[in-house]
This record gives sequence, structure tokens and C-alpha cells, in this order.
Amino acid sequence: MEDGKPVWAPHPTDGFQLGMIVDIGADALTIEPLSQRGKTFLAPINQVFPAEDDVNKHVEDNCSLMYLNEATLLNNICVRYSKDLIYTSVANILIAVNPYFDIPKLYSPETIKSYQGRSLGTLPPHVYAIADKAYRDMRVLKMSQSIIVSGESGAGKTENTKFVLRYLTTSYGTCQDIDERIVEANPLLEAFGNAKTVRNNNSSRFGKFVEIHFNEKNAVVGGFVSHYLLEKSRICMQSTEERNYHIFYRLCAGASEDIRNMLHLNSPDNFRVSFLVDSGTVCLDDFNRMVVAMKKIGLDDTEKLNLFRVVSGVLHLGNIDFEEAGSSSGGCILKNQTSQTLEYCAELLGLDQDDLRVSLTTRVMLTTAGGAKGTVIKVPLKVEQANNARDALAKTIYSRLFDHVVKRVNQCFPFDTSSNFIGVLDIAGFEYFEHNSFEQFCINYCNEKLQQFFNERILKEEQELYQKEGLGVNEVHYVDNQDCIDLVEAKLVGILDILDEENRLPQPSDQHFAEAVHSKHKDHFRLTVPRKSKLTIHRNLRDDEGFIIRHFAGAVCYETTQFVEKNNDALHMSLESLVCESKDKFVRDLFENNSNSKDSKQKAGKLSFISVGNKFKGSSFIRCVKPNLKMVSHQFEGAQILSQLQCSGMVSVLDLMQGGFPSRAPFHELYNMYKQYMPNKLTRLDPRLFCKALFKALGLNKNDYKFGLTRVFFRPGKFAEFDQIMKSD
Ligand code: ATP
Ligand code: MG
Repeated sequence: MEDGKPVWAPHPTDGFQLGMIVDIGADALTIEPLSQRGKTFLAPINQVFPAEDDVNKHVEDNCSLMYLNEATLLNNICVRYSKDLIYTSVANILIAVNPYFDIPKLYSPETIKSYQGRSLGTLPPHVYAIADKAYRDMRVLKMSQSIIVSGESGAGKTENTKFVLRYLTTSYGTCQDIDERIVEANPLLEAFGNAKTVRNNNSSRFGKFVEIHFNEKNAVVGGFVSHYLLEKSRICMQSTEERNYHIFYRLCAGASEDIRNMLHLNSPDNFRVSFLVDSGTVCLDDFNRMVVAMKKIGLDDTEKLNLFRVVSGVLHLGNIDFEEAGSSSGGCILKNQTSQTLEYCAELLGLDQDDLRVSLTTRVMLTTAGGAKGTVIKVPLKVEQANNARDALAKTIYSRLFDHVVKRVNQCFPFDTSSNFIGVLDIAGFEYFEHNSFEQFCINYCNEKLQQFFNERILKEEQELYQKEGLGVNEVHYVDNQDCIDLVEAKLVGILDILDEENRLPQPSDQHFAEAVHSKHKDHFRLTVPRKSKLTIHRNLRDDEGFIIRHFAGAVCYETTQFVEKNNDALHMSLESLVCESKDKFVRDLFENNSNSKDSKQKAGKLSFISVGNKFKGSSFIRCVKPNLKMVSHQFEGAQILSQLQCSGMVSVLDLMQGGFPSRAPFHELYNMYKQYMPNKLTRLDPRLFCKALFKALGLNKNDYKFGLTRVFFRPGKFAEFDQIMKSD
């Protein structure tokens, strides 16, 4: 930082503000803000950054700035956002800020056309440029590619994913039917897997990896969707101002009179969750759109009704309530015995009414007591246990239904053989709330793995490139998070295995589980007890009620109540056999070949492709950013955005770039780009010599660039400068 030049210093809401350094202390700087002359404040040295000369200037590739740091990145994104330029690149990584309104022509067919076959960097940054790069790399390298879309809830992951899919199918598809189906699969998946939350009106409550497959001629032949971690708890319980999965509301609001009668949905306000809150006409339109999507992907009326019937069955199941039996048995009975809820539920799911009642209120156990081996006894359930049994049944049926929807969607774009594919991963980003439970634990574990993948890809590859090209640049250090991943997934001692072990105990308990975690990892750098939390909200959590993990993106305190239950979705035996023997073939099929005993590692760690990431030759990253919490357009909340950039690992990338040579160009590209400006004599040189001669003639500073074996590397901002000199002459 130079004397007399403004710097970026921390600001509580904007992230950074411009100021002048007026005094330098041992570890803090005294700053005078430009906006409030005469006032000063102290800022830690490592949070003050040099600013560009012109802070109103913006660049498409952040690497063409002079100073690469979190403050200049934030400012660049901010200036661009104010001009509705929502995409910015940082070398090969794309940053996408959610505009919260439809920017005219941004995704038009003409725009799609204009990006086809164009190299990255020749047109403004766009999600289409990333999609096209993946396609061209796949074609040239003959290897599958992946695009990883991340960001917090509401940042725009799903929307950008859809733009990528539409781009690839419209640009490189040949069969309109297949292309349309790949795009139309989304409304259906979203109906069953998305819900309104406080962060996003259309929040995906599952992660997905969509593969678009290509034949040897590089034309689209089909697709395949894998899904991860559907949030099951939502089926039985939603936080205030949140809702259940869209399908429930749409069905109630949109289905025809006949269907509603058939499914006994005619008094929807009687459902436990106030299902019709703020639905109305929106749901009706959505319902119709969903039905059109079902038709387009080839679901006939019978299949459609199958889906609706099970959804209604789950709805009615949710209405079943219990009360104490009032007898000496200590068991419970159904509340409101006169209501038809049980009857409807049984009918819709193809079950016998009495069997359903008995299975919900008792549990079959094998006893070895008194030496009588394997005697079957029926144990009455308490009200709370019956509630749990009902919820477990609802969750299991719904998640099986979701598996079925995904399976059915996959049958709509089948393919016999494929040469390569482009996979797009849309999965929730790192999250931490006031209360964090098993769901956050799983999501953050996935993100920890993704971060490792990102580190390996971006940071390691960059270093390897420097080495390969013989640049002699110092190694760049980044925090390796393998220890954190091990903490979660290591055999036997990892938290997931400890949890599975707990589930196998005769009387599993959340407290015992938390204690086991702490005792197995007493001095682990990544793990600590809630008591030690600096976050005051967790101060009163006992050590057997949770643990804190230091993730790459920050420390999160997990509350372990319900971990055991959430890890164990297994139905008790009587319920399991009940649904497996349903009279309804569709219901029976949902449960066929589908063992309940998947362990948590399988459930949480389905992202195994990440560890075998090497099968992808290339990966692109799209980092989505949510501009504000109000979900409105044209509002840039700097501090909040800064923390998202930090969480996504962008800051280490900037450090790497600032210390290295972020802009690079192969000799032949420079040659082709600039030969028109050069005298004939020069253009007869081979591209490498041509570049050397050119730089010499221009008198470029030797510290600003380096010649590798195949290309020239530039220090931050220097390529842009050079390009300007060339074009202005
Ligand atoms: P979640 O993790 O909750 O699923 P998400 O990151 O997938 O969140 P999206 O559902 O993609 O978020 O985006 C939230 C909303 O923001 C969309 O419903 C849409 O209204 C708006 N939005 C996102 N991206 C764009 C865009 N490029 N143009 C216009 N609106 C957008
Ligand atoms: Mg989403």
C-alpha cells in the first residue's frame, strides 16, 4: 500500500469502505474514512487492502485488476451488479450474483447462439460461456466434464443449473423430444423436492447431479439424474413461515373436483399443517405447469394418479393423532375415532385399516426372556412413540416416492451408449444457523469434500502448471481440510461411524452419542465442546448436547438432539411389513428391493464421485452469490456478500493469483491476436520469438511477465495494460 493512496478498510454493513491510513501501529492501522473526514477508526492490518486507482472501473475478469484481494473483488462485483452485469470471472471460476429479476435478453436464444464455440474470455462472462467451455473441452479432450454450482440458499444455483442444461440441449441436441424432456424434468423434480423456506420461495431440499450424455459425434443422447440427501424432516415438521413440499399445496389447490373427491382432499383446511396458507391461484398455475411437465416427459394418467394417491395418503397419515388409552396397558389409541382419516389413509395406500391402526400403536418384538427363544410379543406404544412411528412412516413413504419420481424421470431420457457426459452438480452450500442439526451436518460435510476438490483442482493445478512451464514460482499454501473430512468419515472413529454404532445399541441416545464423539476426539484441532464456543447463543449447551466443528468456512455448533433419530429412518418391523404387503402394487413397488439399512455414510456421503474426481478431466466452478436477505432486486449487501465469497474459498484463490501470474496466453494466440498491428518482418518469426520481440519493443517491465514453455504469464493487471497499449497504437 502506498502513501497517500486510498485503501479498502472494513465496514460493518458494506463489507469495505474507502479510507486513508493516518497511522500505523504494531498490528492495527488507524484509518480515516473518505466519507467521514476527520473521524478515524482502528482496523487490523490483515483486513486493510490496497484499492485500485479508479474504484468505479469494473472488469470482466477480476484477474485483470492490479490488486487481487477480497476488497477489490467485492467492489468489482458491486460495480458490475449496479449495471445489471451479474456475471464476473476470476480466471476460470464464474461468480454469479442473483439479480432477483429477469434481465432482458440475458438468456435469449440469440445470446445462446452467440456463445456457441467461442473461447472463454472472448465474450462477457456468462453461465453459457462455462457451459460451452465444458462442451469444447469434452470434445477436444474426449473426457467427461463437470460443472459444480455452489452457493447458499437462494443464491441461484438451481436457476443457473437450468440455464446450463438448456444451453447444452438447445446447442448440441439433435432430438427435440429428448432435449425437451431433460429441461421439463425440472418442474417435476421441483414439485416433489422443493419447498418454500424463509431463504428461498423455491428452495431445493435435495442435492442433484445431472449428467447430459453425448454420443461419439458429440450430440446429446440422453441424461441421468442422481439425487442426494432429501430433507425428510420437512414432511412432518416445518419451521414457522416455512412450508412442506410444493406438491402437497399444488395438489390441494389444483386438482380437478373428481380427483379431489377420489383422494378425499375436499376439506384441505383440515390438514395438520395449514396447507393452504398463501397458496391460492399461484398454486393452481403451478399445478397446471407441473401436469404439463408430467405429460411432456411421458407420464400417463395412471402414473400421475399413482403419484397423487400416495401424496394424499401421506397427507391423511399426517392427520392421525393419538391419545393415552386410559387403561393399565400404558398404550395409546387413535384420537377422534369417528373421523375418517384412518380409513382414507388406509384406502389410499392400499392398507388394511385395522392393520394400520395396530401397527401404528403397537410394535412387534422378538423376545428371548425366560428362555423362550424368539417369542413374538406386541408391545403397546406410548403416545410419543406412536407419533414417531407415524412420522417415520410418512417420511419413508415420501422419500421412496421421491426416489421413484427421480427413477421415472431417468426413464424419460434413456440412452444405449454414450461416449462422454457433462455433469452439473447443484447442491446446497455451506450453512450455519442459530440451531444446526443433522441436516446441516450432512450438508457441511459434503461442502467440506467439495472444498477439497476445489482446492485440488484450482490451487494444485495452478501450481502444477507453473511447475510444468518452468516458472519457478514459490509454492502457495492453502489449508488442507483432510483432517476435517477424516473427523467425519474415518472408519470406526469418524462421527458418522460413531453415530451408526449408537444406532445399533439397544437403547441409543443422543447424549451418549455426543459423549462418544468428544471422548474419541479429545484434542482434535477441528472439534471442540460447545462450552468453548465464542458464540454466546451456544454457551448454555451442555457438552453432551452438541459439538463444534471448525470447518474451512468457519466454526459451526451442532446440536445433537435428534441425531440418532434422524440417522435412523428405519421403520419398526410391523410398519415395514405392512407397507411391503400393500394391496396397492404401486406402493408395494416403492418398497421393493429397497433395503432400509443403508448406513449413514452411504446416506451422507453419496458424493463419492468427488473423491474419484480424477475421472473428470476438467471441472468448472460457478459460485452463486445471494445479494440480500430480502430477496429483492438492486440491493447489494456488501458485508453479507463478502462472507459468502470467503466461505466459498474465493479468497485463497485471490491470494494465489496475487502472488502468481493469473493471466496467461499461449504464444500462438498472442501471435494471432496482434500480428495485424505488427510490421511484416516481425510476423515471420515463430510465435514465441514474435512475443519476445514484441515485449522488448514495447519496453515491458520484466517483472510483469514470464515466458513459460508454451505460453506467456502475466502478473495481475498486466495483460490488460499490455492489451490496451497494443490496441491504442
Ligand atoms: P436453494 O439452495 O434454496 O435451492 P438456489 O441457490 O437453488 O437455492 P434458486 O432457486 O436458483 O436458488 O434461486 C432463487 C430465486 O432467485 C429464483 O426462484 C429466482 O426467482 C431468482 N433467480 C435466481 N437466479 C436468477 C437469474 N439468473 N435471473 C433471475 N432471477 C433469478
Ligand atoms: Mg436450488
